[in-house]
Amino acid sequence: MQIGDIVRFLESLAPPSLQEGYDNAGLLTGSPAWECTGILVSLDATEEVILEAKEKGLNMVVAHHPIVFSGLKKINGKTYVERAVIASIKYDISIYAIHTNLDNVIAGVNAKMAERLGLVNCKILQPKTALLRKLFSFVPVSHAEIVRTAIFEAGGGHIGDYSECSFNAPGKGTFKGGEGTTPFVGEPGRRHEEEELKIEAIFPAWLERNIVAAMLKHHPYEEPAYDIVQLSNEWNAVGSGLIGDLPASMTPTDFLQLLKDQFQLSVIRHTVPPAHAIHKVALCGGAGSFLTKTALAAGAQAFVTGDVKYHEFFDAESRLLLADIGHWESEQFTIDLLADHLSGKFPTFAVLKTAVKTNPVEYFR
Ligand SMILES: [Zn+2]
Repeated sequence: MQIGDIVRFLESLAPPSLQEGYDNAGLLTGSPAWECTGILVSLDATEEVILEAKEKGLNMVVAHHPIVFSGLKKINGKTYVERAVIASIKYDISIYAIHTNLDNVIAGVNAKMAERLGLVNCKILQPKTALLRKLFSFVPVSHAEIVRTAIFEAGGGHIGDYSECSFNAPGKGTFKGGEGTTPFVGEPGRRHEEEELKIEAIFPAWLERNIVAAMLKHHPYEEPAYDIVQLSNEWNAVGSGLIGDLPASMTPTDFLQLLKDQFQLSVIRHTVPPAHAIHKVALCGGAGSFLTKTALAAGAQAFVTGDVKYHEFFDAESRLLLADIGHWESEQFTIDLLADHLSGKFPTFAVLKTAVKTNPVEYFR
């Protein structure tokens, strides 16, 4: 097993192109060509975690937060970031960060939070737009089935829980081959008419290269005609935050207690509890206060996140129980999520969860 195999699997869970523009997710140190001796999963790839990996004979750290976030101008060990990078290079330990791309998929960081609270009917709170494209290909009827299947197998045609979605319209294609052509049907220099199907299928933008390659591979023409169109449809499988329903309504106090128990919290910073019961809950792991207004508009009675600043609590407009449970606390179960995925995919392989609590925040009680 090479580091590259692990990276490919992680990228199938959370495509790197889904990371936010400011992010730096991906393989930060090490090489995809290295033989992997085992994986240590953590929220932060600090020096302590790198040394833990070394001690346990694991040469890959899969972390949620990219330890190298903005540029490094010196690497002399003065900062915690430099020390982590130095240790990773010194001991040949690769660091892979799966960050906002894992925040943005429906089965990512927030799904794990929702699972702790028992939420049902979960949806993305703020779906992303401009991530969907459509392929229109024009295929002779004889080859329509094989081309359509190839597009599906490359990942096209998924809408919600439906797969193999396409639209197929019959029509007549015309073409005249120039000098040196060998048309699949007809003769060069003479206009040919062919019964074709226009096959339409939707696909996520990052699959474009695969989808087009699959279509071209199975299309019989020398110069297949096709169009790719960018769609402005929302895509509710990708985006920020999650919203869902509690199995039963509860009082704000009971809800805060549920949070405290499920996330093992010693303290919660929250707004004045509303008078009404909590049923619809929005959440966002990490720093999610940018979603408070969206949570309100979506009808949530509570919004759970971390890193909320003083003025941002006012955004709850006294209508929403805004609960700041802490950044690390909100994301802690991401370690289980990643470890479960990795050990499920590579069952004979060492996948360990870090024993280091990397949370830099302490509470004086
Ligand atoms: Zn975070």
